[in-house]
Amino acid sequence: MSLPTRTRHIALAARPQGAPTPADFRLEEVELPELGDGEILVRNTVMSVDPYMRGRMNDVKSYVAPFALDAPLDGGAVGEVLASRSPDVAVGDRVLHGLGWREHAVLPASRVTVVDISSVSDSAYLGVLGMPGVTAYVGLTAVAEMREGDVVFVSGAAGAVGQIAGQVAKALGASRVIGSAGTADKVARVLELGYDDAFVYKDGPVRESLQAAAPEGIDVYFDNVGGEHLEAAISALRLHGRVAMCGAISQYNATEATPGPRNLFQAIGKGLTLRGFIVGQYPDLAAEYRERAAGWLAEGRLTSDETVREGLDAAPQAFIDLLAGANTGKMIVRL
Ligand code: NAP
Repeated sequence: MSLPTRTRHIALAARPQGAPTPADFRLEEVELPELGDGEILVRNTVMSVDPYMRGRMNDVKSYVAPFALDAPLDGGAVGEVLASRSPDVAVGDRVLHGLGWREHAVLPASRVTVVDISSVSDSAYLGVLGMPGVTAYVGLTAVAEMREGDVVFVSGAAGAVGQIAGQVAKALGASRVIGSAGTADKVARVLELGYDDAFVYKDGPVRESLQAAAPEGIDVYFDNVGGEHLEAAISALRLHGRVAMCGAISQYNATEATPGPRNLFQAIGKGLTLRGFIVGQYPDLAAEYRERAAGWLAEGRLTSDETVREGLDAAPQAFIDLLAGANTGKMIVRL
């Protein structure tokens, strides 16, 4: 089989103002570089689009460097090794790495992880067994210090992290898990997955919906969305309640500063803890989660959905649609 000499990638054509549009992206065809010593050539089979990428499209300092204008985007991907100049990675191996948004990648073997796709799909390493799964586990355990018997509320409940957070909370002994999501179909799905109650956050004030679902209050809030949800959760939290501040997707496209929760002072009297985190700050928990998740998957206690788009050309729209809520479970682009 002859090896490809050219490939296609998606470059950032413009920094989005508010919600991204197709004009912010550009499909380009480029020469593939020759393999250097220790490098491999990978044909990507699946790539991830994730909400954090929206922040990287702004030219601001953050925990991760912004994307460069007119350069290819990057992100999680899994692919098949077509050529290798490394003793550590063989042709035919499947690898997880960080050069998504392109059909082929040339990179040092030291920057990939060989994965086993004999019993799970390649895309599982971008979802339930990958970064979103670990995020759900870290947020509940190390950040929110969830205990058996806690009442747990998860926003973004039908998304990649949220689906897993709800099920893991149950597996860890939550007495009740409540979720919120954008549509009735998503709410129905999270109830099937084991959430005890869920509501469509667009149907009314979040504070009222949460109050109806948890009249006695909540102990843990896993925050994927920020804004009105965070304010509602602060009102619902009981004494010594804890918030895992995972994401604030309701604010990622904001073009002006967004107000903080108006009831933050309640944290004083209730002794609340609001703790932010980035999954990469807890590297030791990744292996622990994967081992436990493998067990939960085998027992049928953990299920995850994927919304799959086909082809690199579809990647920009997949990302745009992710931010607008088109996905149930992990949004994946199959290449
Ligand atoms: P996701 O939930 O699969 O997809 C994003 C979802 O956000 C959409 O499907 C949409 O669902 C919801 N959404 C969009 N606008 C919203 C709004 N204004 N209010 C409420 N919900 C809105 O994405 P994910 O990968 O699992 O990420 C979820 C959150 O976790 C994001 O905030 C992300 O940045 C964060 N995250 C953090 C870390 C970390 O290390 N801290 C790691 C991974 C992810 P609806 O239809 O329900 O609106």
